[in-house]
Amino acid sequence: MSKNLSILLVGYEAAPFFKKGGLGDVMYSLPKALRRQGIDARAVVPYYHYISKIHEEKRIGEFVLDFDRKRKTIGVYEGFFPKSDRTPIYFLENKHFLGILAGGHLAIREFAFFDWAVAEFTAWLIKNNRWHPSIIHCNDVHAALIPLLLQKKTNLNIPTLLSIHNLAYQGRGSLHVLDLLKIQDEETKEIKSKKPVNQLNILGEGILHADRVATVSPTYAKEITSHAYESDPIHLFLHKREKDRKEKIEVLGILNGIDYDVWGPQEDNLIYQPFSVLDWKIGKNKNKQEFLEEFSLKDRPTFCFIGRMARQKGVDLILKIINRLMARNVNLIFLGEGNRKIEKSVEKAAKKYPKQIRAELSYSESLAHKIYVASDFIIIPSRYEPCGLIQMIAMRYATIPIASSTGGLKDSIQDGKNGFLFKKNSSKALFDVIKKALHLYTRPKEFEKMVMTAMNTDFSWSKSAILYKKLYDDMTQPK
Ligand code: ADP
Repeated sequence: MSKNLSILLVGYEAAPFFKKGGLGDVMYSLPKALRRQGIDARAVVPYYHYISKIHEEKRIGEFVLDFDRKRKTIGVYEGFFPKSDRTPIYFLENKHFLGILAGGHLAIREFAFFDWAVAEFTAWLIKNNRWHPSIIHCNDVHAALIPLLLQKKTNLNIPTLLSIHNLAYQGRGSLHVLDLLKIQDEETKEIKSKKPVNQLNILGEGILHADRVATVSPTYAKEITSHAYESDPIHLFLHKREKDRKEKIEVLGILNGIDYDVWGPQEDNLIYQPFSVLDWKIGKNKNKQEFLEEFSLKDRPTFCFIGRMARQKGVDLILKIINRLMARNVNLIFLGEGNRKIEKSVEKAAKKYPKQIRAELSYSESLAHKIYVASDFIIIPSRYEPCGLIQMIAMRYATIPIASSTGGLKDSIQDGKNGFLFKKNSSKALFDVIKKALHLYTRPKEFEKMVMTAMNTDFSWSKSAILYKKLYDDMTQPK
């Protein structure tokens, strides 16, 4: 294991302990992949009730901090990721602030608490001679105050990397949060030059104070720093950072990978019958038939949608073409939960086409695996997609992605080779490309070639873990 690099990855979720989306996958698979590169990588997440109910971890200590002028005790627990060669994961416990997943605009208080707890936890680790991270890798808005808090609250001089997994969640809210933390951040108030700022923007604070900023695909890195995002508050922070440091900011885009121990038809005990690349045709067909029987669907070309029911994911674009799509005699399976209005519109479509549509409006890991493998095509009509993991997972299961040409979808799908891309935000383009896909489906040789290419595309972490290692090395070089 590298003596020099020891990385603490901080996030609000980590599979398989607790997962709501792609961040959970990354918080599990990236530390594992980094350890394979000889890096001592570990993770830290809140010890939510849902986790502590199922996973009883070892309590290794506690520390206190003064939040909102009250003393709060934080319990520290240590465990290991399963199937990971004992990759350590720490859990921070505080029933009031870290008991359940925080959401909504008031959640910035919980994020602030977590971030301060992580800063103090790092100091606690070092003080107790347990471990000394050389870099803190903060993931997304939930961890974005850590760079500021390390500077203001501890005397630790540890470089920080902020990874943006989704710019849409910036954690905006009252500046009062800074009072709870008992810190002054005058820079925040200056940001809009003449106009005083009356809101805190947690992601913006991360951009200002982190040593380096990265995101989860090269195309998304380009998109968010381009004119297209000029009116987004992120640009205020990027410009301020550039002005303060007198250097051009580089937002490095490193494509996420997926964990081949979790995702792959060969050793998956959640699907009906495992299979390998060599016998994919027989294996996939068996899985498809079992699924169709279980869900009382006829044997037809089968499409699916898997993902959060959020505007970002573009379910409405599918619903716009639903009549024309159903007229093509296909099945369509939805798996997702989230915005109630979107869920209702999906339910309505399912009621209208009871013989062809199934809508599972819940979060189910086992169902996700079955749907990935049983479908011929997965539709991903995202309005924007920082990276996206579902296209990579689907391809491992011999399922062809039909996706918007944006962000990480563009970086992982080669149109016409291992999937299809269409112009984002256009239901017409979506329908046109579905017609193309169905046409290909009727030409087995060509279709099978595409499936084989998809299955053999490398989405493991190996390439990206090397890029992270390079970045970490660069961050720890003496200047
Ligand atoms: P995002 O992080 O924006 O939600 P990603 O494509 O990066 O999207 O990752 C989504 C992850 O969450 C995948 O592992 C996918 O299988 C999983 N997922 C999303 N919705 C569900 C659901 N309803 N049930 C089970 N797994 C889900």
